[in-house]
Amino acid sequence: MQKRWIPILVFCLTLFLVAVAHLGGRAMATPTLSFAEEKEVYLTFDDGPSTVVTNSILDTLKREQVKATFFIVGERVEGREEVLRRIVREGHTAGIHSFSHRYDEIYASDEAFLADVKKCAELVTRVTGTMSAVYRFPGGGKHPSKEKLLEEMGYTVVGWNAVCGDEEIPHASRSVLVETTFRTAKGLPRVVLLLHDSAPHRETAAALPEIIARFRDMGYVFRAF
Ligand SMILES: [Zn+2]
Repeated sequence: MQKRWIPILVFCLTLFLVAVAHLGGRAMATPTLSFAEEKEVYLTFDDGPSTVVTNSILDTLKREQVKATFFIVGERVEGREEVLRRIVREGHTAGIHSFSHRYDEIYASDEAFLADVKKCAELVTRVTGTMSAVYRFPGGGKHPSKEKLLEEMGYTVVGWNAVCGDEEIPHASRSVLVETTFRTAKGLPRVVLLLHDSAPHRETAAALPEIIARFRDMGYVFRAF
């Protein structure tokens, strides 16, 4: 090839690439959210497992094809091993939320704290055959030295930034739980919603279908830790 053709070829190739990029850009301009703009919600259930409430929540999640995270209290597993196994079998995440949930015992010292975490983690592994990698502090709050210990053990500590109100508002009705969820989650592109699946929380299970439907209508995608 003669050298004088090279600049012409380069020019033609550039024109071609510019045209492809332009057309591609137009095709991409459909109203879908890019990954960075995606709104996401993590449904997190604390203090279970229970029999009726956890199973009802699992039924809803299965029907809606939504995955969630359950922070397990070890002491409540006995007699409900099958519920815990169902959580894992259906693709949800089982996190650690302490063995006893008794603040005075858990937070008495770092040694007492670690013993409690270990006891719950070993139980979850024994029952489900899986190792948990997420932890939520009972009662929430900041515990920097304990958080460091957990991270050294390979746990991710999970808090929350929105609540449904099922623990904060006594005897909250289904509609109050839905309203509280969307009031506290308002404007958040990444929602970590606190709910409870312990035995008294039948209204939480009842509110869940509407909570899922409204997040979905608002364009949120559901994620588990
Ligand atoms: Zn709790």
